[in-house]
Amino acid sequence: DPDILVAGEALVDFLPDQSGPLQDVEGFSRRAGGAPANVAIALARLGEWPWFLSNLSTDAFGEFLADTLATEGITDRFLTRDQEHRTTLAFVAHDADADRSFSFYRTATADQHIDPGVVDDDALVTVSWVVLGGVALASEPARSRLLDFTERAREHGCTIVLDPNRRPELWADTATYERVLGDALALTDVCKVSEEDLAGTRFADEPPDALLDAGPHTVVSTRGADGARVVADGGAPWGPAEYEHGGYAVEPTDTTGAGDAFLAGVLYGLANGERLDETLAFADAVAALTTTEQGAIAALPDHEAVAAFRADSE
Ligand code: ATP
Repeated sequence: DPDILVAGEALVDFLPDQSGPLQDVEGFSRRAGGAPANVAIALARLGEWPWFLSNLSTDAFGEFLADTLATEGITDRFLTRDQEHRTTLAFVAHDADADRSFSFYRTATADQHIDPGVVDDDALVTVSWVVLGGVALASEPARSRLLDFTERAREHGCTIVLDPNRRPELWADTATYERVLGDALALTDVCKVSEEDLAGTRFADEPPDALLDAGPHTVVSTRGADGARVVADGGAPWGPAEYEHGGYAVEPTDTTGAGDAFLAGVLYGLANGERLDETLAFADAVAALTTTEQGAIAALPDHEAVAAFRADSE
């Protein structure tokens, strides 16, 4: 049985065929997305098949997502189907600085009605890692259900991994985001963050002492093209540590999902007992490769491709 359970949304990203403000974009390409879905698929590509706990609409986009997950070899044991709620849609635009913005169509959608009750205790005892993302925590009932589930997973000895994956449009204000992030961090062992996740909150200081004080024993920070950094305190089973990796040089086409690919690389390393510095380098390589094609999952590599890429780059 899988060792890793990823929980949260699958949604459809509509990537613009041109750059510029969303109101001027005429054509879009449909891509499966949602950070947890991307992480689950990235793990499957690496040969580390996870459970994916999610709720998919039975609408046309939900069918597309179910097909995509099945094609990637993700089992549907914890994928519930929902006739009442539609699929979340996210329209992406690239502004002048090539920064991405998201417009979410997410009123009463299926992903917000995720049901962790389908994961019974017998299944949970076989899981070592539970992975959560912040988008699913932005609204109810998903937020309470997932936080309750996380507590239950902790009682079963699971290691909890959190990616806040902040999307400001989904949060009423920074104070609400900061409060919910604090609640989630209290249950978290390993936290993966970017600068945007923390900007303007009390967790924004560097080194990440405020984050480490809030719950996690290990904080992994991404730095875009400049790679990533990991800091673990004395509470980490791998012991206190601090490493940086400067990233891999690529010509990026689209960085959508780079952070998700990176997190999958981190999980792969940790779940296989790799050293932290090796885990960081591996995750940077998975993420760099993912930026070389449009969409979050198109260029997700398998294990051999990562090894070949690293051998070429060193
Ligand atoms: P996301 O933008 O997907 O929500 P994030 O903010 O964590 O997540 P980034 O910090 O942009 O994402 O990137 C995550 C990882 O992807 C980086 O740590 C790095 O390994 C890799 N990466 C991102 N951009 C580039 C790039 N231009 N060149 C090489 N690697 C990159």
